[in-house]
Amino acid sequence: MSNAEEDLEYNCPYCMTPISVRVDVTGGRRQAFTIDCENCCRPIEIEAIVESDGTVSIVAKREGEG
Ligand SMILES: [Zn+2]
Repeated sequence: MSNAEEDLEYNCPYCMTPISVRVDVTGGRRQAFTIDCENCCRPIEIEAIVESDGTVSIVAKREGEG
């Protein structure tokens, strides 16, 4: 059993504030989107990778980096 959505925590790459992000695991194996940090309001590029067993890992990068 698995939920369609996963809540994950990451640290803002600018201010290191822990933020949670919700990923729709049915949305694809690799998803990229940009959100604004709720603390420093800077844009963060999020890459979410959904493994075949439903495990989700995320990478948070500064916009324009890599
Ligand atoms: Zn921030």
